[in-house]
Amino acid sequence: MTWEPEEMKKRDEESIWHAMRPYSPGGGMVIEKADGSWVTDVDGKEYLDGMSGLWCVNVGYGRKEIADAAYEQMLKLPFYPLTQSHTPAVQLTAKLDEWLGDGYMYFFSNSGSEANETALKLVRQYFQQIGEASRYKTISRYRTYHGSTLATMAAGGQTQRKYRYEPLPPGFVHVTPPDPYRKPEGQSDEEYSLACADEIEQAILWEAEESVAAVIMEPIITGGGVLIPEASYMKRVRDICDRYGVLLISDEVICGFGRTGKRFGFMHADVKPDIVTMAKGITSGYMPLSVTAVRKDMYQAFTGSEAYDHFRHVNTFGGHPAACAAAVKNLEVMEREKLVERSEKKGRELLEALKELEELSHVGQVRGRGLLAGIEFVEDKTTKKAAPEKLVKQILANCKKDGVIVGKTSDIAKHHNNVLTLSPPLNIEDKDLQLLITTLKKHVKAAVHPA
Ligand code: PMP
Repeated sequence: MTWEPEEMKKRDEESIWHAMRPYSPGGGMVIEKADGSWVTDVDGKEYLDGMSGLWCVNVGYGRKEIADAAYEQMLKLPFYPLTQSHTPAVQLTAKLDEWLGDGYMYFFSNSGSEANETALKLVRQYFQQIGEASRYKTISRYRTYHGSTLATMAAGGQTQRKYRYEPLPPGFVHVTPPDPYRKPEGQSDEEYSLACADEIEQAILWEAEESVAAVIMEPIITGGGVLIPEASYMKRVRDICDRYGVLLISDEVICGFGRTGKRFGFMHADVKPDIVTMAKGITSGYMPLSVTAVRKDMYQAFTGSEAYDHFRHVNTFGGHPAACAAAVKNLEVMEREKLVERSEKKGRELLEALKELEELSHVGQVRGRGLLAGIEFVEDKTTKKAAPEKLVKQILANCKKDGVIVGKTSDIAKHHNNVLTLSPPLNIEDKDLQLLITTLKKHVKAAVHPA
């Protein structure tokens, strides 16, 4: 059956409840196909995808070898649950050991939310089993996103996204995130980052250290506005966690798999988290898959003795064979094409090219690491008061008219939906990167200096 584009768009409008509609200023698109860094809608209009879908298509679109790996796996074994095991999951753990460093057990799910939900549940049971049942609280930061389930939303710090669904599960405490652009005058970036880390120590002490189980953080806050602390921030957080017997969970759902120019975001700080959660880039979005990597000795607390209990958490499709096969191939592609290194190099070029925008009246800061970048718009460069959301929406809509997709922060808190975001495929061709830069510059300049 063939569908006319109009018919397709009408049915879409009438039948699909789209997540985050405001994320699509200028209207939604019904995408039909994609190749490299380009997606094509049902009308045949092509768009350069500066957001890799939703921060996830790290190796770009149209990778036949990943599709083949999933296809062959489906013919061989389309499904078997990980309550037992199957070969592609086992093979993927060997790849993950190479990427992450060994010493972890892997629990498989389907989405970033589930990976974090798994981590949060697992941490609570872990402390019960090692005889520290008083520890149940998780410390997180405002502005972060950790997922859409009730517990991951409670962990998250984007208030506009949360308040309609309250009451949320208790046991989550929030502190201020590092926002180096707004550091107090006279403080160096380093001093500021350390002061922010020390807020976590204060929270642990105020909450009573024996009640705190974990700290969860993205090494770089991504969807919350691309906030990049000094490496010493996460190092100091690691020290604080060690001092008080608190676990450190690194949410690598976006930062993982080369996005920030290293394999994982925590590697900028040279620390070892106790738990690492990953999704998105693990398959570059070709299949749904997520992983909660947990220190092996923590796993012992669930299995090591008859006194211990097992982790009562299961999902039917977690670690789907075709998804695991796609992930292994995806990671092989990233290794062969050195996409982590490329992300670092091209990210520098991108940042350098966009930095000149800071000379404009309403561009507060251009920041980035690897192929992850943000442009923060302000009403006033002295007060740093956030620019209204509609300014960023206008830029997005104009870029889209010109066939270039970029993103923005949304639903964070009323006054922080002012950061334009970029997260292109790590293999974006040079000419496409240039097009992204020139189109974006054109529309930023037009928006802040209207003709
Ligand atoms: N953590 C982070 C940092 C994320 O950005 C996201 C999704 N954007 C999630 C968790 C949740 O992932 P998912 O949408 O796959 O549930």
